Amino acid sequence: MSRAAKSGARKKASAPAAKKPKPWTDAEVREAFERFRKANPEPKGELEHLNPFTLLVAVVLSAQATDAGVNRATRSLFLVADTPQKMLALGEEKLRDYIKTVGLYRTKARNVIALSEKLIREFGGEVPRTRPEIESLPGAGRKTANVVLNMAFGERTMAVDTHVFRVGNRTGLAPGKTPLEVELGLERVIPSEFMLHAHHWLILHGRYTCLARQPRCAVCLINDLCRWPEKTI
Ligand code: SF4
Repeated sequence: MSRAAKSGARKKASAPAAKKPKPWTDAEVREAFERFRKANPEPKGELEHLNPFTLLVAVVLSAQATDAGVNRATRSLFLVADTPQKMLALGEEKLRDYIKTVGLYRTKARNVIALSEKLIREFGGEVPRTRPEIESLPGAGRKTANVVLNMAFGERTMAVDTHVFRVGNRTGLAPGKTPLEVELGLERVIPSEFMLHAHHWLILHGRYTCLARQPRCAVCLINDLCRWPEKTI
């Protein structure tokens, strides 16, 4: 090994480990969510739906697509197919026409027809209320189950999408390498009284304030609490 390479290796070995952000105290977490609540007492999701079934379909369609894009497609779709029975009557081919502006629409159309069949066959045409049952539906995963349980059935679940994942990590509220780690971390630190709306507060915070490229720290409600070293004040 050359002298330069040796010195590089020495430098690497002795480089200080990245400093972990100081965990939030219980009082800080409470303060943050009290501020979110005060600013927006009844936050709403932006995926349009009419009932648990149309919510489920909208969430399945929303994978790797924007809520606005899904809404544009489902507005006319749900006028003709707001139950599993009507979705089956519509059929996969016509369903594809309604959703062809949404990414991965062929696979999603197949899944929506298959999950409608399964709902009728195994769940009496109703969206089931447990996580394993929802996750057993074609095209539905953990995030889908969390959104449906939270928005349709009022459960205190935490769905982690790209926005919640970024906010959980960047703020230091619940750092994690995977969505599941962040989900479990958020469930651990957020007091139960805030959990019903926490998912929407964090999504909206990520979507409109803590933006991926240029976070709007100057107007951020939790600027003083955020642990991100690159935040601006
Ligand atoms: S201070 Fe900046 S980085 Fe921290 S949560 Fe607010 S917007 Fe995001």
